[in-house]
Amino acid sequence: MLKSYLESLFADPYGTPAMVRRLLLEQAAGQWRRYALAFGMMVVAAGATALGAYLIGDVINQAYVHKNLVGIFWLALVTAEEKVYPIIKDDGGRRFFKDERLRNRAVRITGKLVANAGLLQVVSMVGLKGGKAYDVYYWCDICAIKRYEMMLCECCGAEMELKEEPVDK
Ligand SMILES: [Zn+2]
Repeated sequence: MLKSYLESLFADPYGTPAMVRRLLLEQAAGQWRRYALAFGMMVVAAGATALGAYLIGDVINQAYVHKNLVGIFWLALVTAEEKVYPIIKDDGGRRFFKDERLRNRAVRITGKLVANAGLLQVVSMVGLKGGKAYDVYYWCDICAIKRYEMMLCECCGAEMELKEEPVDK
C-alpha cells in the first residue's frame, strides 16, 4: 500500500515530489555544503524563535499566571519634589516588591543613589503618618522575631504579622 502510494506520488514527472527528487539527485551531491548550511540556518531560525519565547516567558508568566505587575515593572520612590528613583530589588529594596502594603504610601527612606544617581539602593525605611515616623516591620509572636521583609518566620514557619510602631525620638 505504501509502495503504491509512493508510486502515485511520483507518477507526474512534473509534480512537486518528482521535482524534489530530481533536484536532490542532480544537485545534492554538488551542493551538499549549501544544503547543510540551509539546514543549519533553519535550526538557528527555530532557535531564535524559541529563545524569544524563553526570554519573554517570565514576563508572560508574571502577568497572566501570577498576576504580578511588579514582576514586570520597576518600583520607584517618588520624592516630595516629584523626582522618581527606581528602587533596586536587593536586601533593602525587596520589601517593597514583596508586600503591596508598603507601596503607595508616604515613607522616609535612608539609602544611596547609585548608577549615576539613576537608581535608589534602599538601606532602611520608616513609614510616615500624620507627620510621625513609624517603624514598619514583620513580627512573629511565637518566636519574638523581627524582620523587615515579608516572609514566613524562619524559626516556626508561621506567617509574620505586619506591625507599625511610632519611632520615639
Ligand atoms: Zn516564628
